[in-house]
Amino acid sequence: MNSIKKYFVDLFKGVISLVKGMSVTGHYFVHPGEIITEQYPNNRNTLKMFDRFKGEVIMVHNENNEHHCTGCGICAMNCPNGSIEVISKTIEVDGKKKKVIDKHIYHHGMCTFCGLCIKTCPQHALAFAPTFENSVYDRSRLNKILNHPGSSLIKEKEA
Ligand code: SF4
Ligand code: SF4
Repeated sequence: MNSIKKYFVDLFKGVISLVKGMSVTGHYFVHPGEIITEQYPNNRNTLKMFDRFKGEVIMVHNENNEHHCTGCGICAMNCPNGSIEVISKTIEVDGKKKKVIDKHIYHHGMCTFCGLCIKTCPQHALAFAPTFENSVYDRSRLNKILNHPGSSLIKEKEA
């Protein structure tokens, strides 16, 4: 007799549990805007990572393709694992020789995202970008030049 009673109690509990589960599913079916789970990769064009996400180090450029990097090399000195190389060159401006950055090389594959380069840059030239599709088949593609082609030091810094 007890086993029959237990059977119906378990059956009842099972139905209650099913109804609870289906009510959650039903809620999100009629309120799709409340769905938290990211539908990746279907949403890769609109997916926005959270603010503190660190995808890679970048050099900040403005709309005129100018940056703040003076090529001082402090970021490279402070990087604990040699992920940054700063190569500078000398140019002539108004008859005067001037040292400017040639290549700011970032080895993304070695970076531990500690943020020391960004924190110690006196010009605030670097930042973390929230990029998230960084896997590559060829590891040499993880070596990046952060100063954009044709870019230059922002004008205020030259004054
Ligand atoms: S990014 Fe900053 S610290 Fe690094 S070389 Fe440029 S100015 Fe110096
Ligand atoms: S975040 Fe850290 S490990 Fe990565 S390049 Fe900057 S200093 Fe180096």
